[in-house]
Amino acid sequence: MDTSLPEPKLSTLYQELILDHYRRPRNKGSLEGPTHAVSLTNPLCGDEIDLQLRVDGDVIREARFIGRGCSISQASASMMTQLLKDKPVPQALALAERMTAMMHGDEAAARDKSLGDLRALAGVSKFPVRIKCALLPWNALTDAVKSS
Ligand code: ZN
Repeated sequence: MDTSLPEPKLSTLYQELILDHYRRPRNKGSLEGPTHAVSLTNPLCGDEIDLQLRVDGDVIREARFIGRGCSISQASASMMTQLLKDKPVPQALALAERMTAMMHGDEAAARDKSLGDLRALAGVSKFPVRIKCALLPWNALTDAVKSS
């Protein structure tokens, strides 16, 4: 059953980037020997993210995810796993904070190049019901590294 919410209207360029990640997700699949794994769901929209990390010392060496749901949640997960590779955990958590700020309308965060492709999701902040979709993988990340 498809419980996904209707897609919000974003600028065409951003919509293309989101759909590209949705159709050809980066780092999708399971990790061999993850050191951290967290599954989260967003019942509002039916999104599911199972995030797996391999952390070596204090550095995220690999990040992969399994998931299903709307394009925003899945694109956010794909973009996030791209950014996390070889990032120290504190820097990954700083990115999660930046991403959360952007989704709550922080314009400086929306211009922050360190968020990479994720800035395409800035427009989602105008659709409060969808903010949870965009932040689902980031909440999984925060849970994963803080529970260790
Ligand atoms: Zn969603």
